[in-house]
Formats: sequence, C-alpha cells, structure tokens
Amino acid sequence: MSLDGFRAASHGKFRGDQSSFAVTVATVRRFAAATLLKGLLSTPNMLTVPDEFADLCEFAVEVGAEYVLTNPLSSFGRGAKSQSRMAADAAQMRAIRAVTDRFADRLDLVRMRFPNDEEKPLAGCYAGKLLYVYTNGDVASCPYLDFAARTHASPYPADEFIVGNIYTGPVTAALDGYSFHDLYTVGSNSTYGSCALTSTCGKGCPAAVISRLVMAAPSSSTASASHLSNASAFYTQPHRGLLD
Ligand code: SF4
Repeated sequence: MSLDGFRAASHGKFRGDQSSFAVTVATVRRFAAATLLKGLLSTPNMLTVPDEFADLCEFAVEVGAEYVLTNPLSSFGRGAKSQSRMAADAAQMRAIRAVTDRFADRLDLVRMRFPNDEEKPLAGCYAGKLLYVYTNGDVASCPYLDFAARTHASPYPADEFIVGNIYTGPVTAALDGYSFHDLYTVGSNSTYGSCALTSTCGKGCPAAVISRLVMAAPSSSTASASHLSNASAFYTQPHRGLLD
C-alpha cells in the first residue's frame, strides 16, 4: 500500500485530496488487522520532508509491515508530466536515508534509485519474476516496465509487458516462459562496455530506457523491436550514480 509521505500536506496533496491521508492510514490498519499487509511503498517528492519518513517507518513497525520501499518520482507513469518539478532531489534522498537507517533492524528498507554514494555496481533486472496484477486482471512482467511502456515518449506498444489476464485464462505458462533478457539486451552501449565495473554490473533498471528509447535485441534474436520500424535510438546513458 502506498503512502507518499506521512502527512495530509504531503501524501494527501500529492494524491489530490488531503483527506486521502487519513483514509489510507485507516485502510492500512485494516489490512494489517486482517494479516494481509506486506509492506508500504512511498514516493518522496517536493511536498515531503525527510523526518516524515521516520514517522512512516514508525507506523510500518507499529502495523507489522515487513518492508518500506522508497522510490523517487520517475519520469514515467504518474511522474511523466511532473517529475522535473516534483521529484525529491539527491540531498532529500540522502536525508531520508539518514533518518530511516535506525529502522534497519526492524524493517527491510528497500531503497530504489537513491544516490549511489558508495559507487556500487548497478543491480540486475528481475522482470518476469515479479508479478503485478491490475484490478482488470492484467498481469505485467514488471510494473515499472509497464508504466514505462505506457509513457507518451515510449516507442513500445502499451501492452508490451502484459503477459496475460487472470480473468481470461491461466497465466502460469506465459510467466514461466517469460525471459526479459532473451528479448532485450541491457547495457549494450560502448560506455557500459568500457566501464571498469562491467563484469559485476547488473546494468540497472531498463524501465528508464523503455520509457523513451528502443532496447537492443539480442544478436541471436529477432523477437525484440521487430514491430518498431520507426524507432532507431538505442540506450546510451548508463545510470551512473543511481541504484535500483
Ligand atoms: S530492474 Fe526495473 S525493470 Fe527490472 S524488475 Fe526491477 S523495476 Fe522491473
């Protein structure tokens, strides 16, 4: 469940209705009471202040959440039009990390795209292993890929990453047979190839590429981009400085 900050003036305003904060907190408590709550998701933005993420973590501990996933606003999905003016900056992300570190022994703190101050190699991609089921039954191989493909600038069809629908038929075979890395090549540009970390680098999150460019197809496959005859750009900007 998503709480984008822990105040009516942040979560509520971000969601377009300040009363939605109290409603969401109450709903989280009901899910927790029914033992259905797994974790809380949050999108830091210009309306949030770092200390409220400590309050969010306190709340997560109180209701028995296993994790708090924090992911700054991206330039696709909800953030396609607002990312440039609403996203939390690197200083805010560092401050959020500092005020939430003390919860690490009680929560799994999942930090997406925080400043990579330790210069760790980029993480790998697990598309196809993470399920995302929409209320209409559609199953995406990864929610971020699906959001990215639906972004206006994406050259991909909107349903590129929908593998089935639970209301219209079984999806297990389609998911078992899905292999993102057999369809698309990540990190195929020369910058990645010459980086000293390339042997240990997972190449980061390809959703940022999908939102605006065409991924390279594996040399042994014609499956990817065969329907993208008008698109010719390839990913050239690795995510140095960011982790997924
Ligand atoms: S790295 Fe990105 S595209 Fe891959 S599974 Fe994670 S969020 Fe999805």
